[in-house]
Amino acid sequence: MRKFTISMALVLAFAAGPSAQQADPVKAAAGALGAGALKTLQFTGSGANFSVGQNFTPAEPWPRVAVKSYTASINFDTGSLRQELVREMGTTMPRGGGAPFTGEQRQIQVVSGNFAWNLGAPAQAGGAPPPAAPQPGNAVERMLMLWATPQGFVKAAMANNATTRKAKGGTEVSFMVGGRYKMTGIINTQNDVERVQTWIDQPIVGDMRVETAYSGYKDFGGVRFPSRIVQSQDGYPSLDLTIATVTANPAVDISVPDNVRTAQPAPVAVTSQTLADGVFYLTGGSHHSLAVEMKDHIVLVDVPQPEQRALAVIAKAKEVIPNKPIRFLVTSHHHWDHLGGIRTAIDEGATIVTHQTNKAFLERVAKTPHTINPDRLSMSKRSVKIQTVGDMGKLTDGTRTIELHRLTNYEHTGDMLVVYLPKEKILAEPDAFTPPATPTTPLVVTAVPYAVALYDNIKRLNLDVQSIVPLHGARTGDVAELARLAGKGNAGN
Ligand SMILES: [Zn+2]
Repeated sequence: MRKFTISMALVLAFAAGPSAQQADPVKAAAGALGAGALKTLQFTGSGANFSVGQNFTPAEPWPRVAVKSYTASINFDTGSLRQELVREMGTTMPRGGGAPFTGEQRQIQVVSGNFAWNLGAPAQAGGAPPPAAPQPGNAVERMLMLWATPQGFVKAAMANNATTRKAKGGTEVSFMVGGRYKMTGIINTQNDVERVQTWIDQPIVGDMRVETAYSGYKDFGGVRFPSRIVQSQDGYPSLDLTIATVTANPAVDISVPDNVRTAQPAPVAVTSQTLADGVFYLTGGSHHSLAVEMKDHIVLVDVPQPEQRALAVIAKAKEVIPNKPIRFLVTSHHHWDHLGGIRTAIDEGATIVTHQTNKAFLERVAKTPHTINPDRLSMSKRSVKIQTVGDMGKLTDGTRTIELHRLTNYEHTGDMLVVYLPKEKILAEPDAFTPPATPTTPLVVTAVPYAVALYDNIKRLNLDVQSIVPLHGARTGDVAELARLAGKGNAGN
């Protein structure tokens, strides 16, 4: 044993030898990028960002949204970053998901140390801005974004005892941030940071790779900086910026608002409402579920995010339908905001019922490593059971029937399965139609085509719907309201 240890140490020492003899590439990059003299940094640009987890099918890139202006302000000493984006949308949403909006949308996203928050615009011009909205779930991603900037990367490499090795095109530099998050980057032969990879926990795809590529380095008024930044998440572009200006050492004072510092996570609450005999609407968060009692089992529709809520939804389903196992989980579609609890459902032993285009993706989801934040499935390693559906599927116990219909001409997603209970005349769906706060509130203009598609599909399939049960929002609706908001007049049923 002892001999083995010594010989391993020799092998490691030998492996580290050649690069130790070269000039330190991290120091060389720090010199070229002027990192040592930078306490703060600001850069501006424009381009696009992309709605991660909202592609039209799992095999397509994330939907693109134009970013009219982008400003990042960084304080390296305090580990703070403020990003301000003005996104712009025309009259139609890109193919795929993402929250519908129209015109300009301003987003201000901030991180400082372990705290993250968003800032909103005042409700009226000149009015007081709303209080900061804590975003604890985004702190890691934003913190890693800060340390993935070229100057941030070399600073972090020096502070975290980076290891280096020769790689294609230059030197690969690796280190851990906060003892938990791996960062690895390439410093090329011009001493520029060319590419940085890191991994963050994502409830569905696990240890998700975030890669940022930097190109077109040039002198921006005394600071060497890339003129193009392209970031990808889970393999598809998530941010694409052309840089306009870079400012060295501007004033960047970011302090954590008191309400963010003291914020407590909202308690997980699942409430149940009986829609019909044995049909339960499970709400209490931003995303709802449906539990349907069958002769000897339960069918669940959607188990949203994250694992903690998924566990609470499963517990509530078993409380309102006692002594029956959850045998099927129907996923309405593959968008990540509706899939957050899918691994919990797989661990529970449910067969996943989904559109056929999602099979390969869900097989990957079931097996993907979750080492940063291990979940139940990563411990149990239970294998996934998938039952696919084409344009139409049916679950029945001989008494109750659940029909699944794929929406056609629906630009939000290619795989949307709406859930129809013919006996109860209930249709459940997310995203296609969320009844607005009050019946007189119009839909956001870019959401109207989705309502039109749902209405047209209900007519095409000749479904007799009394109640539309949305898996978002605060209330149920009906076809007359859908028709009116979809601009179909008072066509009613
Ligand atoms: Zn969606």
